[in-house]
Amino acid sequence: MSRLLESYSAGRWHTASDEGAPLLDAATGEEVARISATGLDLGEMTTYARTVGGPALRALTFHERAALLRQLAKHLGADKDELYDLSFRTGATRRDSMVDIDGGIGTLFSYASKGTRELPNDTVVLDGGLERLSKTGAFVGQHVYTSRPGVAVQINAFNFPVWGMLEKLAPAFLAGLPSIVKPASQTAYLTELAVRRIVESGILPDGTLQLLSGSASGLLDELTVQDSVAFTGSAHTAGMLRNHTNVLHGGVRLGVEADSLNCSILGPDVTADDPELDLFVKGVVTEMTVKAGQKCTAIRRAIVPAAMAEVVIEAISARLAKVSVGNPAHEDVRMGALASLEQRDEVRKAVQQLRASAEVVFGDPDHVEVVDGDAERGAFMSPVLLRAPKGAVEVHDVEPFGPVSTVLTYDSLDEAVELAARGKGSLVGSLVTHDPDVARCVVLGVAPWHGRILVLDRDDAPESTGHGSPLPVLVHGGPGRAGGGEELGGVRGVLHHLQRTAVQASPDMMTAITGRWTTGSQRHDDGVHPFRKSLATLAIGDTIASEARTVTLEDIEHFAEFTGDTFYAHTDEAAAKENPLFGGIVAHGYLVVSLAAGLFVDPDPGPVLANFGVDHLRFLTPVKAGDSIAVTLTVKQITPRSGADYGEVRWDAVVTNASGDPVATYDVLTLVAKEWDR
Ligand code: NDP
Repeated sequence: MSRLLESYSAGRWHTASDEGAPLLDAATGEEVARISATGLDLGEMTTYARTVGGPALRALTFHERAALLRQLAKHLGADKDELYDLSFRTGATRRDSMVDIDGGIGTLFSYASKGTRELPNDTVVLDGGLERLSKTGAFVGQHVYTSRPGVAVQINAFNFPVWGMLEKLAPAFLAGLPSIVKPASQTAYLTELAVRRIVESGILPDGTLQLLSGSASGLLDELTVQDSVAFTGSAHTAGMLRNHTNVLHGGVRLGVEADSLNCSILGPDVTADDPELDLFVKGVVTEMTVKAGQKCTAIRRAIVPAAMAEVVIEAISARLAKVSVGNPAHEDVRMGALASLEQRDEVRKAVQQLRASAEVVFGDPDHVEVVDGDAERGAFMSPVLLRAPKGAVEVHDVEPFGPVSTVLTYDSLDEAVELAARGKGSLVGSLVTHDPDVARCVVLGVAPWHGRILVLDRDDAPESTGHGSPLPVLVHGGPGRAGGGEELGGVRGVLHHLQRTAVQASPDMMTAITGRWTTGSQRHDDGVHPFRKSLATLAIGDTIASEARTVTLEDIEHFAEFTGDTFYAHTDEAAAKENPLFGGIVAHGYLVVSLAAGLFVDPDPGPVLANFGVDHLRFLTPVKAGDSIAVTLTVKQITPRSGADYGEVRWDAVVTNASGDPVATYDVLTLVAKEWDR
């Protein structure tokens, strides 16, 4: 008997108390492993996540969590051969496994980098700017995101046992939520191996990752109001989860990625001689054959101009004829097996349903020539292309989760958009066109029905990541039939897990709560120029209020001549008088900002190492010759960089005129040494 997969729960590996169900090699039918969760204490698992994993994670800042994800990505990347070897047993070729294994590791790297660059080195995220809620500014509002003290349950489909886990784990981990991973049983042996390596590495804090190998029955019963479930799989199971009492009445959040009848549209501008035709054909064939078409993002509907149907079918068929099917480990094989014989039966059934209106124009769903394999014991299947007539219904309803696609025709762009929409909501759609008007019309028409849209032409094709690849920085998920969920999308994927709260308070309270200086709260001036302070002594609210300086006409003329910015409002009194906003010569905005820098800098070598940018610069009141300006600079946010001996300091800068009106407001961004003893 093969090995019984284990679950990882409450800090230890758990072996089921029965023999479990066999999991078979997709290509040979041999038993790979057995699976069961019998005897696993799901209550203990969820409690452990909430009481051990969650607190450990939330004690870390976003940057510290990101650093652990980076470490984990490096660790998995250094030793991935065994994952690749085992992955063959799922029916995946080496190329298929890259999407799963390297794609998963890449997602960890991406979140590590986004977490460091786009989230604060803190445990609270500010959303949007400060809202002034009262006359004097003594009462303000600020939206903040905080981590929930719950557990993130992640239920995955069988097709991406590694990526599926990591793409859900990374955003949840960054958000401070411990994860319970529940892989689909069919390929859970690969997820189990990956989790084993993660646990052995000791990189993730205890309780932040647990694994449920086997049935998830009863898991949702254990969830409460701060918990969430991210599900990828069939619409049927999604429907059951949606109806669970803890989702309906208990406040458990549910995100769903379900089936999706994605389309690719060939633009009406594309002729048989255009490179776009080949791009379209390649896209369809790739999506039919990568992972044997078992991808939630695969192209199920190829929507083409009626006049191009024959050409397209011929070209797709010619390419499909070259696709060798068989043992995924064999180097001549382009397409491996479906995940299981049951899955193949499902796909054959779906093709039968499609045939109620469509005709098969390439391939035989019941027969395939197999390279180095047994066509009966292995779940092999030929790619199958169908053609559906106008008015066909099944093609918009039935998802053959395998190497199957159907060609549909349209006579107008409106009809193309309408056909795409009949999928009732998809994860991704492609448009292949070189005509900008077609691109705008179709993309705006189909966007409400899609989570992601790829517009492909000769210009972006050489560097395009393709139709079927979800990217960590772009959202993955779609409306309607696709489940209505949204994952990834960079920091968006993290924010989904956090709670947004509108906080109303005084500016001083807001500064204390958010750890960032809030307009209107106290400033500190202890007589030491803040540019003389390293991060060790610099504090939020430290301020320098400059002397005033008069801006003369000579200053303005000099700046105009020196920079070449001789725009009439700075140089031509008569013309400037006609300007409805100025009514005379005004100083350049950049002159004001430059003079302000001259007013606040401390010139000698010190802990301030560099100015690396300015954010949110606004010129609010024109400065005329003879006006005087002064600047107040206040430490707003301090972000030490891990692994460096300096950090970022964001300064609030307000330039005012002699009447106290704000002339310019902005944030100055500097790099400041952590220590400075010179
Ligand atoms: P299922 O919905 O049967 O399974 C998906 C996951 O849900 C598995 O981990 C499964 O575990 C688990 N599950 C099943 N029943 C329950 C339950 N009652 N409570 C909690 N978890 C449960 O889908 P399939 O594995 O059959 O996947 C096939 C279909 O999923 C495809 O035909 C396709 O339509 C869709 N799919 C969609 C994807 C997307 O991203 N949109 C991606 C991949 C697939 P177990 O395996 O142990 O039963």
